[in-house]
This record gives sequence, structure tokens and C-alpha cells, in this order.
Amino acid sequence: MSWNFETEPEFQAKLDWADEFVRNEVEPLDLLFPDEAFTPLDERKRKIVDPLKEEVRRQKLWATHLGPELGGEGHGQLKLALLNEILGRSSWAPIVFGCQAPDTGNAEIIAHYGTAEQKEKYLQPLLNGECFSSYSMTEPHAGSDPTMFKTQAVRDGDEWVINGWKFFSSNAKTASFLIVMVVTNPEVSAYQGMSMFLVPTDTPGVNVVRNVGLGYEAEGEGTHALIHYEDVRVPADAMLGDEGQAFAAAQVRLGGGRIHHAMRTIGLAQKAMDMMCERALSRETQGSLLADKQFVQGFIADSYAQLVQFRLFVLYVAWSIDKYNDYRRVRKDIATAKVIMPTVLHDIAWRAMQVHGALGVTNEMPFFKMILGGGVMGLADGPTEVHKVTVARQVLRGYSPSDDLWPTQHIPKLREAARAKYADFLEHEVGNL
Ligand SMILES: Cc1cc2nc3c(=O)[nH]c(=O)nc-3n(C[C@H](O)[C@H](O)[C@H](O)COP(=O)(O)OP(=O)(O)OC[C@H]3O[C@@H](n4cnc5c(N)ncnc54)[C@H](O)[C@@H]3O)c2cc1C
Repeated sequence: MSWNFETEPEFQAKLDWADEFVRNEVEPLDLLFPDEAFTPLDERKRKIVDPLKEEVRRQKLWATHLGPELGGEGHGQLKLALLNEILGRSSWAPIVFGCQAPDTGNAEIIAHYGTAEQKEKYLQPLLNGECFSSYSMTEPHAGSDPTMFKTQAVRDGDEWVINGWKFFSSNAKTASFLIVMVVTNPEVSAYQGMSMFLVPTDTPGVNVVRNVGLGYEAEGEGTHALIHYEDVRVPADAMLGDEGQAFAAAQVRLGGGRIHHAMRTIGLAQKAMDMMCERALSRETQGSLLADKQFVQGFIADSYAQLVQFRLFVLYVAWSIDKYNDYRRVRKDIATAKVIMPTVLHDIAWRAMQVHGALGVTNEMPFFKMILGGGVMGLADGPTEVHKVTVARQVLRGYSPSDDLWPTQHIPKLREAARAKYADFLEHEVGNL
């Protein structure tokens, strides 16, 4: 039997290296170039970032989750989880290590469904860190229910013509290509009638109407695009996977994406926890350290309990993905991690902010962004409520209804059965009284 919670020493050495490297070399980029991690590198940034990426490659930690045939190290999801909880502290670190969202999920879907030509054209540059990608699925009128999507592609000779609107296509403004999910057959159910296309962002008719920002970003300066696809013509071989296969492909795309978010969230929540503890040990009021106040101790204990449960669960899910190599088989647990994630990040960041007093709510500390991050994690790749529905449905599959009026565990019924089982013994005991 093998069941332990230790990291093998060789990989632990790599994690230790990554921890120091991210702290010393990468986290400063978050301060120098905040919110620019997904901007294509200019000459100035290249001078800093390219050598960092080279160093990661030398350490054999570039795109660790992908197999060597795709330019990665083939370490799998569990090792990626351990690495990602280090990278999650920094918005630049996933880029420097070749495993940033949404590109990891997009890379997985192309690796899984792409033709040899598509892999060469789109996947290779993506994995080499030469370009960014965007996933274009949500529409302005519908997000969590993909059966309501209207954006359509119509076949015209050797081409498909795409028309419609998409909303919240993250990083479209810097992406070289989009993976667009559209209706190709409105006559059948959406589960059979939708397909995916690889569309270069500079294709005529791909109109980025505006880039929506998150709460703390200036209006118009965000990275989530509202896109009008207006008579966008793509060749037939731009289809990713088979016609009508978009739903199945989306599960591959989103399954990986969701658990990668959870891995990085561990790192961010740990960072909030670290700040809370440091402050509790540094600040004195009313005769004692904050660390000695029971309310603050409660914050710390509750945060530790939430974080450690979340972390172990995410590692378990990553291990399960490696074991079964099938996202569908681990769907319930990926959805569960997705459900837990927003609350863990929100709660720990909120408590850390509170412990910092007025300083905590200023733009001199990162708590607002972290707390909003909790909200974002409750929506990106599907809202919490929908994932709860998935979890409940999957859990219920393991059960069946009671076959009579009373529940199986109804005590009078069980007692009667127990009496019947041991009737001989009970008669004998009574006879000896
Ligand atoms: C930061 C961020 C990045 C994103 N990136 C991308 C991207 O790159 N590409 C992309 O295509 N999309 C992206 N999205 C969009 C995301 O997938 C959608 O926001 C999500 O699927 C929810 O859709 P919606 O916003 O239209 O909300 P709606 O579908 O309108 O739902 C609104 C609310 O209704 C409730 N609700 C919905 N369904 C149910 C239900 N069945 N039961 C109970 N309550 C329910 C939930 O509370 C939900 O939050 C991103 C979103 C965020 C916040």
C-alpha cells in the first residue's frame, strides 16, 4: 500500500529552488509591472523575463504538467499542484513557468483534440511562451447555461462563417488566437450542435468592442473582452475536434483550468495567511500583541483549518487526475474544489485585511485584490451554484431510494431485524433468566 503525504526529495529540492526563485526574482515583477503579465513582452521586459524563463527551463520546471512530446516535463498534475501553490503568490510567476491561465487549459484542449497542423501552428508557440491565447465561450446574455449560446457558424463551401457576440473572453486583447465555441447545428440539442474553432485574433470581423475591467481596474483598461464576431471567415480545418464535439472538449478545457485555479489559490491564500500572522506578531494594542487576542487567534485558527483542508483536498484531486488520466472521472471532486475555493480565499484575505486595521483597506496592501479574487473564483469557469448542482448530482449517483416506507436507518425497523437475526440467542438468554 502506498499512501503518504511526503514529496520525493528530488522534487522537493526543485520546489525549494522555485520558492526562492519566485520570491527573489519574480515577485519584484509584480511591483514593477503590475497587471502587465499578459501583455506581450516588449524589448525592455524581454531583457528581464526571457532569462528567467531560461532559468526555469534549465531547472526542468517549464510547463511541468505537459508531456515531453509537448515541450513539458511530464510531471503531471500533483507536481504541478505543489509548484502552483508557490506560483500562485505572484501574477507573473505562472507566465515565467509556462503554466498560466487561460493558456494551460487552452493548451490541453489543443493537445487533446488538435490536428498535427493545429498543434504546430497554435500549440507550439503557446508552449514556447511566444504568444497568448483566449477562450471565447460566454455570451453577453448567457454564461452559466451554454445551451443558451447563440453565436453561430454556418458552412459556406470550404469555410465557416461565424457571427455573434462573446463576453469576458479573457486576454483577447493580447492573445494571438481565440478558441471560440459556437452553434454549428441549431436543429439538434446544444450538446450535439456546438463546435469549437481556432480563430487568429487578427482575422477580419473579430471586433473587440471593449475590454471590461474588474472592480479595481480603470474603466476600459481591463482584460475581459466583449467581442463582436461579424462575418468571420475561417477555413474548414480551423475546427478544433469534430463537429458537435464542443461540450466534451469544454470539459477537458475547463476541468484542467478549474483545478489549476485551485492550485494557485492555495498560494494566494497562504500569502494572506502569512501576512496576517506577521501582523499579529508585530502589532500591539491595549497591553498585548494582536497575536494574544482571542479573536485574532480565532482568525488564525479558522484560516489555518480552512487552508489545510483545501490544500489537502486539491492535492488529492490532482493525484486523482494523474491516476485516472480522465477529467470526467474526477469531475465531482474538481467541482468540489471549485466550490470551496472562493470561500477559502475570501475568508482568509478578509481576516488578514481586518488584522491590518486601516492599512489593510488601503491600496498599499493587496487585500482588496485578493478578496475580489475570491469573487472571481466563484464565477470564472462557472459559478459556484452550478458546481454545487454538479457535486450534488454526482454524489446522489452513489445512492438509491429506500425500498419501503421507512428510511433504511429507521431504528424500530433495524431493531426488529436485529431481534430476528439473534432470535435463537435471545430466546436462550431469556430461558436462562
Ligand atoms: C475573471 C473572469 C474571467 C473569465 N474568463 C472567461 C473566459 O476567458 N472565457 C469565457 O468564455 N468566459 C469567461 N468568464 C465568464 C464566466 O465563465 C461566467 O461569468 C460564468 O460562467 C457565469 O456566467 P454569467 O456571468 O453570465 O452569469 P449568469 O449565468 O447570468 O449567472 C448569474 C448568477 O446566477 C446564479 N446561477 C446561475 N445558474 C444557476 C443555477 N443553475 N442554480 C442556481 N443559481 C444559478 C449564480 O449565482 C450566478 O453567479 C470569466 C469570468 C470572470 C469573472
